Amino acid sequence: MFHLDSSFCWNDKVAGMTNSMELEFSISDLFFSLSYIHCLLNCFVDIKYLKGVGEKRANAFNEIGIKSLEDFLQFIPRMYIEKIDIKKMRDHFDSNVLVAGKIFDVEYPRKPNLPTYVFIKDETGITQVPIFGKSEFRSKQFRLNDYFLFWGKVVGGYYNTKYQIDYRDHLKIDPLDKNENDFLKFKYYPIYELSGVLKKTWIRPLLLSKIVFNAFASLIKVNKTLVAESLPEYIIKESNLISRKDAILRINFPLQLTDVETARKRLAFEELFYLQLLMALKKRMVQTEAKGIEFHKDIKELTKNFKSTLKFELTGAQKKVMNEIYFDMKSNKVMNRLLQGDVGSGKTIVSIFAMLIAVENGYQTALMCPTELLAEQHYYTISNFIKEFNEVSGKDIKITFLIGGQKKKLREEYLQDIRLGKTNIIIGTHALIQEAVEYKNLGFVVIDEQHKFGVMQRAKLKEKGLNPDVLVMTATPIPRTLSLTVYGDLDVSVIDELPLNRKPIKTYLRTDDEKPKVFKFVKDEFKKGRQAYIIYPLIDESEKMDLKSAEENYKLLKETYFKDVPIGMVHGRLLWYEKDDEMQAFKEGKIKLLVSTTVIEVGIDIPNATIMIIEDAQRFGLSQLHQLRGRVGRGAEQSYCVLIAKHLDEVSKKRLNTLCETNDGFKIAEVDMEIRGPGEFFGTRQSGILNFSCTDLNRDKDLLQTAREMAFGIINEDPNLRKPENITIRENFLLNYKDALYIMKVA
Ligand code: ADP
Ligand code: MG
Repeated sequence: MFHLDSSFCWNDKVAGMTNSMELEFSISDLFFSLSYIHCLLNCFVDIKYLKGVGEKRANAFNEIGIKSLEDFLQFIPRMYIEKIDIKKMRDHFDSNVLVAGKIFDVEYPRKPNLPTYVFIKDETGITQVPIFGKSEFRSKQFRLNDYFLFWGKVVGGYYNTKYQIDYRDHLKIDPLDKNENDFLKFKYYPIYELSGVLKKTWIRPLLLSKIVFNAFASLIKVNKTLVAESLPEYIIKESNLISRKDAILRINFPLQLTDVETARKRLAFEELFYLQLLMALKKRMVQTEAKGIEFHKDIKELTKNFKSTLKFELTGAQKKVMNEIYFDMKSNKVMNRLLQGDVGSGKTIVSIFAMLIAVENGYQTALMCPTELLAEQHYYTISNFIKEFNEVSGKDIKITFLIGGQKKKLREEYLQDIRLGKTNIIIGTHALIQEAVEYKNLGFVVIDEQHKFGVMQRAKLKEKGLNPDVLVMTATPIPRTLSLTVYGDLDVSVIDELPLNRKPIKTYLRTDDEKPKVFKFVKDEFKKGRQAYIIYPLIDESEKMDLKSAEENYKLLKETYFKDVPIGMVHGRLLWYEKDDEMQAFKEGKIKLLVSTTVIEVGIDIPNATIMIIEDAQRFGLSQLHQLRGRVGRGAEQSYCVLIAKHLDEVSKKRLNTLCETNDGFKIAEVDMEIRGPGEFFGTRQSGILNFSCTDLNRDKDLLQTAREMAFGIINEDPNLRKPENITIRENFLLNYKDALYIMKVA
């Protein structure tokens, strides 16, 4: 039996059991080099011969990608259930447990809708398990003296015994079978996610646990090492990790619950380490293989003109990041930089400056945005700025706006301008990366990422240029662990300071009943000349129901509270020029109250709007709320944000109160990620990078940091992983991450 050998069993409690071990491996054989022979061997052991599997189930396993015994090593339990003595049931009242024992009685129901009672007995006592369902089968299923494992909740007994098991699952065990006997020796049992395909072939949770166990046991028979080590010895030692083999055994069949965390950490480290290795390699590749553009022209004149066009003083943080960007652009390495900053920290102007440097050096530059509304907003802002800049500097910088759905003739004209280099700055949506768009000399690319573009789209825009420098901007601060994961290969610039003239936005949480009061307040602000937004949730633009809520409320507001006030509406279903008209009217103050869905989430910049009301606020993510709130507080006047929510539970209340307590987007992002998890944080799931099986970014911050430092350190010293001590990394990387590297190379 594999799980009780000396290397696996490290505590005294189970030491007595080690005597019975047959297959043994010692600590010394934890460190071996990769051998592919055992992989080959395992391919010959068809999984259909595993006990409990058979042809049909083997096919089901195949369907979910489990084709060989080794594939079972990928299984990670969702939870663990403790097996207890029957005597101890009272100590586990109301919790899920396993009990194992012999059947010594079965009582069949007198009426069809009553349960069959199965009585089982272990060395410490007797209990009963009522099981509903057709009793004809039961007499065949539960025979006297057979040995069973039952899973269920301990509840009060109605009949005969004081406690009984509220049945969830059972598993028949053959005590004469060596393997099954071994299986019974654990205290904790793994429960796995059961896919529908498996369920269809009647695989139940406990059966699956046994099959996994059997797979491991069979693997060990053909291959003592069970699983190849993927990290070199020095990393394992330095980071105080357990071996990969132990980790996999323990996470599946722990001897004590603390084993699980030790094992998980080891596997998480590995996930993070190889991901960071990928990042380190990619970064190195970008910097060494391809030579970037040197934007070498002197920028004294440019800087002077830029400053005199500005209507404000740049913040220290803005100057700092502009320097970082300029420094990169000047050098011949390809820039790949992430610009982070809180809402309203002034990222746009920083990107304009960078674009001007590119233009000054004779290159075209493109700015790609995830939504039309945002592209348009940038187009206006930047056009206005460039117009004045042209006047100040005597230059003639041209801008083109490219999105889908523009008139054909106009589009042809734009495309030609871009191709012939008649335009310098091109702003748009993903229309910028369509095949028909050819750039004359794209040298600099800004992506207003808003985490909505995938890696591939970024890559495409880049490919349109001549190894252009790339600046990626994020609308909302991203927790550090996430940015290291998703943007781990980029250099980071952070604007950690807001312009001085900003007054912190005051945020309040109000219930539905308090709406009249809120609206009265809004009307008072209108009298002072201010404007307001009111947002209704629209989680998905195709959800008609949500749209209805904005439209209905628009009507309602227009007919009741705001009868005498000009009010407008924008939502995702409007065509871009319709949205544009409405936004323009709002900007000019012709509209006082703008009813909207989240289409205005990013980028909209109307300083006179000072009130943001968000209805059904509990339906939004915190970062999204923060982003929406960022639409106000853009001028010198005091701004307000009112979150209106119904039926708040404690968690939602806590979430929303975070927003009332702080305006710090970085802090909010951390809380948001803690609550929603990294996958949901981005709204759209990021290209698989966040599909960790063992890593929990909320818990593994330190682990990530260590793994990153180590990976970057190794690539720095041994970029091709040729040193003997790194051979394991190299082989494992080529074996498991080659595809990822290829994708990254493209990107
Ligand atoms: P974000 O970082 O959210 O994209 P923007 O770039 O849209 O922020 O800037 C928000 C507003 O602040 C804009 O109206 C911009 O003109 C203004 N702004 C930017 N930098 C400064 C500054 N240093 N001082 C005052 N206002 C600034
Ligand atoms: Mg912005």
